[in-house]
Amino acid sequence: MSQVSTWRDAAGDLLLGSCCAGCGVKGRRLCRACADTLRADPRLAWPEPAPTALRVPVIVPPYAGARYDGRLQHLIIAYKEEARHGLARPLARMLADVVASALQTVVGPGPVALVPMPSAPGAVRRRGHDSVLRLARISAGQLRRRGTDATVRPLLCQARQVADQVGLSASDRVQNLQGALRARTGGGGRVLVVVDDVITTGASAAEAVSALRRAGLSPAVVATVAATPRRWPGAGSFG
Ligand SMILES: [Zn+2]
Repeated sequence: MSQVSTWRDAAGDLLLGSCCAGCGVKGRRLCRACADTLRADPRLAWPEPAPTALRVPVIVPPYAGARYDGRLQHLIIAYKEEARHGLARPLARMLADVVASALQTVVGPGPVALVPMPSAPGAVRRRGHDSVLRLARISAGQLRRRGTDATVRPLLCQARQVADQVGLSASDRVQNLQGALRARTGGGGRVLVVVDDVITTGASAAEAVSALRRAGLSPAVVATVAATPRRWPGAGSFG
C-alpha cells in the first residue's frame, strides 16, 4: 500500500469513519479483498438446461463476469438488498466489461442499448432502489467513456405478479415467468443487450428475450455481472 493511500485511508477513517462498502472493514471505501473480487472475467455462461427462448429461433448467448458465490455473492446481495450504493460503480464496471466482451464476440462494434431486467415494484420499494436499472445506467456511462455508443432503454416491465423464484426448479421457473414481462418498442436501431445482476437457470433472461420478441424486437445477447455456478458444465472454468 502506498504512503498516500495509507494516509488517505487513515484520514478517511478519522474524518468520515469510512469503511469498505462491501464488507464493512474500516479504513477504505473498498478494501483490497472486495476490490479483487469485483473484477470481471467475462465468459459464455449457458445454464444447463439452456432455456428454449435463448436458443430458438436465434441464439441469444448469455455472458457473465464471474461465478456467483463466496464474497461476490455477499457483495451483490449487500448492494441489492441493503442498498450499499458504494458497490454500484464496481459492479457496473464488471457489467460493462461483460457487455463489451459479448459485443466483441457476438456482434461487433455499433450503437448498443442496455435493457435492464425489471424489478418487481414491491422489491424496488422494499430495497429503496432499482438495483439493475442503476447498474445499467452506470455501465452505459462507462461504455460511453470507452468509446461505445451505449444507452439504457428500460423497455421491460412486469405484466403480472410472479411467485418468488427461490426454491423453484428450472422448469417451474420458466412456467412461473411465462408471459410475466411486457416490452414496449423503442430499440432505435441499436443492438439490444438484456442486462441483469445474476443468471441462475436463465428463466428470467429467457422471458425477457421472449417479451422483447413479442414486441417485435430482436435482442442479441444477455449480459450479467455473475452466474450461479451449479447448473452448467463450464462452471469449473470460472475457477
Ligand atoms: Zn471489503
